[in-house]
Amino acid sequence: MSGVMVIAEVKEGRVKKSSFEVTAAARGLCDQSGAEVGVALAGNEIEGLAEAFGTYGADKVYLVQDSELERYSTDGFTEALAKLIEEKAPDAVLAANSILARDLLPRLAARLGSGLMTDCIEIAVEDGHLTGFCPVYGGKARAKCRCIGEKPHFATIRPNVIAAEASDPPRKAAVETVAPALEAVRTKVLDEIREMGGKVELTEASVIVSGGRGVKKAENFKILEELAAVLGAAVGASRVAVDSGWRPHTDQVGQTGKVVNPKLYIACGISGSVQHLAGMGTSRTIVAINNDPEAPIFEKADYGIVGDLFTVVPLLTEELKKALDN
Ligand SMILES: Cc1cc2nc3c(=O)[nH]c(=O)nc-3n(C[C@H](O)[C@H](O)[C@H](O)COP(=O)(O)OP(=O)(O)OC[C@H]3O[C@@H](n4cnc5c(N)ncnc54)[C@H](O)[C@@H]3O)c2cc1C
Repeated sequence: MSGVMVIAEVKEGRVKKSSFEVTAAARGLCDQSGAEVGVALAGNEIEGLAEAFGTYGADKVYLVQDSELERYSTDGFTEALAKLIEEKAPDAVLAANSILARDLLPRLAARLGSGLMTDCIEIAVEDGHLTGFCPVYGGKARAKCRCIGEKPHFATIRPNVIAAEASDPPRKAAVETVAPALEAVRTKVLDEIREMGGKVELTEASVIVSGGRGVKKAENFKILEELAAVLGAAVGASRVAVDSGWRPHTDQVGQTGKVVNPKLYIACGISGSVQHLAGMGTSRTIVAINNDPEAPIFEKADYGIVGDLFTVVPLLTEELKKALDN
C-alpha cells in the first residue's frame, strides 16, 4: 500500500465521527507499509477542522476549499476531489458509508475508471491488495471483495464498526490548502431543506430505540422518545411505522431504509423481518421488546423482554433514569 486517502465529511461545521473512524482504519492499513494517510476535506472555511485528524493517524490533510463547496453537490465535489486524487495517486480511497459517500464515491470511482467496494465491515491489505469484507443476504454472509484493474481502489466502511482510536504515537498532520478548479461544474445547490435538525443521526448513533407496528400510532412514539432522551439515543422505525405515516422516511431502518450499526439497538414492537434485520443485524447488542414470545426478532436479540411495550418501555425509562442519575 503506497498511500491511502480518506474522504472526510463535515456536517454543521463539525467533522463526522465516522470520518475519524475511517482515518483510524486507514492508519491501520498503512502501519504495515509505513505509507502515508492523507485526508481530503472539502468545504468552505474549514481550516479549523484539519488539526484533529492527526490524532487518528493522518499524516496530511488536504483542505479543498471554495465558497462553491459550502454545500454538497455531486458535481462540485466530484470535480474538486477527482483532480486531487489523480494528482496524489493513492493506492486506496476510503470513506464512511454515509448518504453523501454513497452518492459521491461511485462517481469518483467511475471518473477515475476504478472499482468500489461498499459498506465494508472490515478492511485489510491481503497480498498487497485492498480487501473488503461486506455483509450480503441481509447480513447472513460476508463477501470478501477486491477491486481489479486501475488504482486507486475505492471502499466505504460502515460507521461504528471500527473504533476511532487515537494513533500511537500521536501525529501532527501537515495541512495543505488546495484551490479546486470548478469551471466544469454545471450544478449549483440553491437551498437545503432539513428534516431532522437537532436530532441524533441514525447512521452515526451509538444507541437507537426503534418502533414498529406494535407501537400502534404516531403519538405512542412519545414513550420511545422519552427512553431515547434518557439514553442520548436516536429513534428509528420499521417500514410499517413509516408507511403508516407515524414516522418520517428518514427514520426507517432496513433494506430500503438506513443501515445502522449502533452499540445498542432496542427494538420495540418489531417482529424482526429479514428486511428489517438487513438494516440493524450487525448492531453490537440487540434488545427486543415484544409481546409474542415466538417473534423472530428474539432469535437475533441478545436480550429479549416478552411483554407489552406500553408497560415495559416506561418502566425501563424510569429505571434507567434512576440508574443514570446516580
Ligand atoms: C422489498 C421490501 C423492502 C422492505 N424494506 C424494509 C425496511 O427497510 N425496513 C423494514 O422494517 N421493513 C421493510 N420491509 C417490510 C418487512 O417485510 C416487514 O413487513 C416489516 O419490517 C414489519 O414491520 P414490523 O416489525 O413493525 O411489523 P410486524 O411484522 O407486524 O410486527 C409487529 C410486532 O409487534 C409486536 N407487538 C404488537 N403489539 C405489541 C405490544 N403492545 N407490545 C410489544 N410488542 C407488540 C407483534 O408481536 C409483532 O411481532 C420491506 C419489505 C419488502 C418486500
